[in-house]
Amino acid sequence: MELFMIFIIGLCFGSFLNVCIYRLPKEQSIVKPGSFCPKCNTPIKWYDNIPLLGYIALRGQCRSCKDKISFRYPFVELLTGLLFLILFMKFNLTADFYKYAFFFSLLIAVSVIDIDYHAIPVYFCFIGIVIGLMFSVWETAKFLRFGVTDYAILPIVESFKGVVFGFGFAYLFKFFGDILVSFYLQFRKQESIEGETESLGLGDVDFLGMVGVFLGLKGAVLVFFIAPFIAVIYAVFAITFKKSHLIPYLPYLSLATLVTFFWGNDILKLIF
Ligand SMILES: [Zn+2]
Repeated sequence: MELFMIFIIGLCFGSFLNVCIYRLPKEQSIVKPGSFCPKCNTPIKWYDNIPLLGYIALRGQCRSCKDKISFRYPFVELLTGLLFLILFMKFNLTADFYKYAFFFSLLIAVSVIDIDYHAIPVYFCFIGIVIGLMFSVWETAKFLRFGVTDYAILPIVESFKGVVFGFGFAYLFKFFGDILVSFYLQFRKQESIEGETESLGLGDVDFLGMVGVFLGLKGAVLVFFIAPFIAVIYAVFAITFKKSHLIPYLPYLSLATLVTFFWGNDILKLIF
């Protein structure tokens, strides 16, 4: 019963994420007005707006204009519900549950926004960094109350190392990567590679800073090195099926973050 409740809460939260994903990049309020069909602007009845079930009952069509409802909406809801469920089974209702539920929700939001706009509002990662640091401070206070004297193992120290690496290393990579890209473009006498002129966007740099806060130094390093592998797997798939291989990078970074969160220690053991 508890598990079911958490899943439902996750679904509802996913529904809220959908609203944020749709409205925040357009600088619209996420509170008013209520949900409406993006095609015909008809307000959506509350019973059609129930996460997952609404979509199934409507068979993926708007009730008034019959336009197809994007599969993304139930997908985001389901994904959020499942992640909340997994986190609950791992942590119960501890601070870690709230911390990572918040973090994973941000991952979903920035990934989908990046797919749509090839950029994300800067404040997303900034909010993530601030909230992540607050959790770290709070955990550190708990450590200190238990009389920990080895300052190297304090959560805030790990978060700090993570954010410095995430920002610093990613920014250095971007700096030298951009130089290589511009040399390459000059050499080929091209303006850009399918519209891209950068090796790494600033959003990706901020993202790695945020990962550092939540997963620490090791986590940020792992994410940095795992993400390209996932991107390459997708690129092979895209080339095989002749889809565009102009790829936003944040979904891969987010996937790499999930892989690191769940299996990071196993991967490290495998390598060292
Ligand atoms: Zn409609």
